[in-house]
Amino acid sequence: MVIYKSREHNDYTIIIGCGRLGASLAASLSNRKKNVSIIDKNKEAFRKLSPSFGGLTLEGDATYIDILKEAEIDKSTVVILVTNNDNTNIMIAQMVKELFGIKTVIARLYDPERECVYKEFNIDTICPSILSANKIDELLNIKNGESIYA
Ligand code: AMP
Repeated sequence: MVIYKSREHNDYTIIIGCGRLGASLAASLSNRKKNVSIIDKNKEAFRKLSPSFGGLTLEGDATYIDILKEAEIDKSTVVILVTNNDNTNIMIAQMVKELFGIKTVIARLYDPERECVYKEFNIDTICPSILSANKIDELLNIKNGESIYA
């Protein structure tokens, strides 16, 4: 594998899962000239990346340590877990925290009830259903500065 840029210790993000969220995050970081790699077990998933994406793509199952090593996990500062499986996300999150000492690990979590498990391991989570519910609530309560329920 060829690493195109040397990884600076203060700027290397690995995204795991190249679905719509992963691809869009990758594009956003790449546009801001951040060093970024994205891993997905299905190479077709990389078609979601924007043509301007300047990072590295790696095909493979990120539950395997070899693929993480290939992505130079030891040099990463941030790992973002956005596969479509909560169990996969938590398993990889624990692995990168414990084996590689990655400080900033953020995981998407579909089931909010599992949040306590992530908290225990000091893993930041984002839960789309909670975020959406909060946003809808906000829109319902404040429409043109007034509550629609007033
Ligand atoms: P989405 O549900 O659209 O956000 O997509 C999630 C992505 O995660 C899909 O492209 C899957 O192929 C990918 N994915 C799921 N499990 C793994 C895994 N163990 N390693 C790498 N990528 C994965």
